[in-house]
Amino acid sequence: MTLSYVFPPPPVTSVPVRGRPERFPVHRIYCVGRNYEEHAKEMGFTGREPPFFFLKPADALVPVNDGETGTLPYPTLTQNFHHEIELVVAIGTGGAQIRAADAQRHIFGYAVGLDMTRRDLQNDMKKQGRPWDIGKGFDASAPIGPITPLEQAGDVAAADIWLQVNGADRQRSQIAKLIWSIGEIIEHLSAAWTLQPGDLIYTGTPEGVAAVGRGDLLVGSVGGLGELRVRVS
Ligand code: MN
Repeated sequence: MTLSYVFPPPPVTSVPVRGRPERFPVHRIYCVGRNYEEHAKEMGFTGREPPFFFLKPADALVPVNDGETGTLPYPTLTQNFHHEIELVVAIGTGGAQIRAADAQRHIFGYAVGLDMTRRDLQNDMKKQGRPWDIGKGFDASAPIGPITPLEQAGDVAAADIWLQVNGADRQRSQIAKLIWSIGEIIEHLSAAWTLQPGDLIYTGTPEGVAAVGRGDLLVGSVGGLGELRVRVS
């Protein structure tokens, strides 16, 4: 029997793949919090606490093609809309209890992403001990560039990560400064959830997070993964 629905099911959220016509269908978006020491310090912590996870809904993605400038709507309810440039890991092979040493074979590729944050709302929720969703998981909170397949991505673990706003440096660091490495992130994450093909992992942001406003142009990159360009509207 063919399934029918009371209304049309939502479209599959997907991200372009560099050099291939097929797109990457997205299952979940996991994010790592405070995974760079200097960012943890700028947020008022020591940088010695272990990182942690939160999620964004898959349909919060704003996929942007190479050579295009995506549109990022300024969200409601905030006066402090922050950028966080991040390396994104795309999972191609699922699994649970994955060891860091085996993590590489679960990775389909890498992308450049922005973990956009309503910082004022996130800070209110932190103070009250409430969930971060309203500060982190809002509509269009996850711009992302094309996914570069693993075999074309080069040595991402040794890459630079940076973000400019209107041509001026805001964030500049190295993936080597991750507190949890890519393999360790996958080990910790897959101990808590069973990873599925289509999962994306935003791996955390370095120091320099700050506010953007309407009309600002954000351009960011990680090593050889191309540039992610978005304008706030
Ligand atoms: Mn982040």
